[in-house]
Amino acid sequence: TGGKPDISREKSAELYEKAKNYFPGGVNSPVRAFKSVYGTPLFIQKGDGCYVWDADGNQFIDFCASWGPLILGHNNAKVREKVTEVMQNGMSFGAPTALENELAELIIKNNKFVEKIRFTSSGTEAVMSAIRLARGYTGRDKIIKFEGCYHGHSDSLLVKAGSGLVTFGETSSAGVPKSFAQETIVIPLNDTEALTKAFEQFKDEVAAVIIEGIPANNGLLMQDPEYIQFLQNICKEHKALLIFDEVITGFRLGFEGAAGHYGVKPDIVTYGKIIGGGLPVGMYGASAEIMSHISPDGGVYQAGTLSGNPVAMAAGIAQLTELLRSGFYKDLNNKASEFAESIQRFATARNYKLKVFYVGSIFWLAFTDKGKIQTAEDIDPASMEKFKIMHRELLNRGIYLGPSGYEVGFISAAHTKIELEKAKRAIFDSLDVVFRN
Ligand code: PMP
Repeated sequence: TGGKPDISREKSAELYEKAKNYFPGGVNSPVRAFKSVYGTPLFIQKGDGCYVWDADGNQFIDFCASWGPLILGHNNAKVREKVTEVMQNGMSFGAPTALENELAELIIKNNKFVEKIRFTSSGTEAVMSAIRLARGYTGRDKIIKFEGCYHGHSDSLLVKAGSGLVTFGETSSAGVPKSFAQETIVIPLNDTEALTKAFEQFKDEVAAVIIEGIPANNGLLMQDPEYIQFLQNICKEHKALLIFDEVITGFRLGFEGAAGHYGVKPDIVTYGKIIGGGLPVGMYGASAEIMSHISPDGGVYQAGTLSGNPVAMAAGIAQLTELLRSGFYKDLNNKASEFAESIQRFATARNYKLKVFYVGSIFWLAFTDKGKIQTAEDIDPASMEKFKIMHRELLNRGIYLGPSGYEVGFISAAHTKIELEKAKRAIFDSLDVVFRN
């Protein structure tokens, strides 16, 4: 291809062969298996700042950031020290601790979209619980979700669009009962007509509409602000709850996530990733009134042995404290927009079919000439072949992107100008290879 020679992956390949004996596909989460890109998965040995090192000793500037949580970079000293300090007193009690109050206070005092919250141990759990809460609160069963949004792997949400504009969903995983999928209606994003039709058809059966604050699991699908406003209005009109799944966008776009970005108040919000500083934490929250329906106050049951785990709370406290420092998001987002724009300028100057979509410190490299990509349908699956080549070229130049062209990249506070310049040059050279092919 005229590209760089491949990095050594001997140790990673050896570990992967072993892992295949233990885990389906050799991994504990499917995307890690590198099925959409070249080569075997890299086994990561160490991370520090914006760098990671694999088992073969290759060093990479990391834009995956554990899929988003590491907004301060790897092994941040403040987070590490707080976690280490708290760990000295034991790691789990299954009883309340002051640390839960401390993290909750940081969140609730600085985020006007939640009055009461509940911590979980993953994003999936947070969203699954939010859906149950919406159903319990409204006494309705159906939910509306959008094609191109991912909300974790609970049964109600592993559902994709059927044929037709407004239909019941079809399961997108074996093992999800058809009857579950029948409770989920899947419609295209950014489409007021589809949304109107869905409400006309299902009216007062709809418990909630769930959307990713800014959809970032299937490319970065920026929605029109008017559409989000429309979404809120139509939910209100039909007394359905609006759920913002902010597992990615929460504390990423700003302390108030996508809700703050749009100035739209969802009824329930879910968070994850960043609030745990890299440890397993999720959370959902709402007004005190809605949250009063959660057990033991109310009749919606939800629980967790490790929920509010002190070590995870410690990481969250240390990380969120840093995010609240004045100018944090401004600096981060400026750095990210400069990075994205200069890649765009390079691609445009060379007539490469590449668009860099970005918001806050999230970016997505899309091999397209469309000015906007707002729905899953707008993405040409054939463009992923180009991503595949770029991914390989980038690894060979010391840049780690998540191993799928549908995934976004993240810039952290640990990426300095030096690394971003280096990464840009590597991206330019890789694009030259991609478009020479
Ligand atoms: N919702 C969104 C928007 C997500 O991006 C994710 C994970 N990428 C989830 C929910 C599920 O979170 P987890 O993987 O922690 O279960």
